[in-house]
Amino acid sequence: MHADHVMGLPGLLASMNLLGRKTPIEIFGPEELESFVRTIWHKTGTHIDFPVIFNVVDSSKPSLLLEMKSYKIEAFPTKHRIPTCGFKIEELKGNWNLKPETKALFNLSYHEINQLKKGESINRRGGVVVDPNKCCIAPVKSRSYVFAADTAFTPKVIDGALNATLLYHEATFMEAEKSIATKTMHSTASDAGRVAREANVERLMIGHFSNRYKVLDGLLEEARTVFENTLLANEGETISIGNYD
Ligand SMILES: [Zn+2]
Repeated sequence: MHADHVMGLPGLLASMNLLGRKTPIEIFGPEELESFVRTIWHKTGTHIDFPVIFNVVDSSKPSLLLEMKSYKIEAFPTKHRIPTCGFKIEELKGNWNLKPETKALFNLSYHEINQLKKGESINRRGGVVVDPNKCCIAPVKSRSYVFAADTAFTPKVIDGALNATLLYHEATFMEAEKSIATKTMHSTASDAGRVAREANVERLMIGHFSNRYKVLDGLLEEARTVFENTLLANEGETISIGNYD
């Protein structure tokens, strides 16, 4: 519920309304969030014409928020002065695709095709094995994005970010300001690098910088001494997950 994380929400939703949104939207957050947003709308005479559904997240333990056909979203606890959580958006493994010649070559049944699509081998009578590694194209590695803002260093985030494709982690301070970081329960750039390294992520993006840093190079360098593949979160920039061209 800290201001820098929620003040934009009533306005963002009001902008969607002005742009003609009719589709319902699901919001996940702490219990106080709904009354906060609705109070702002009430006091400012803002009318929202699409359904806004608030879901309360229990930030004390990991939880599954949403599971769709191709992806799922989970929340995990972070460590701050008030209840906070991070989020993981993860692709679910896709199907294996049959090579064009496979179906005719093995005279596959409907059941066998489904087995191969799941990546399972078919063991036929007489010892014939149909191996998906040979007659199918493997699904692309599932990608994931993990978001952790407003947190001190904690193993809970390492657990939440395990093997992520891209981890966004706050780096409010540098090691030189470690005492302020500890007091305010924020992370240093070095802490963020350590989480990335220990969680074995592919790439780290740091952000949520204190406005004392007019130039951000020092934060980037500090994180990179711990975890090389780090970049700065620049406002307005688009980052592709798992595609670094
Ligand atoms: Zn914050």
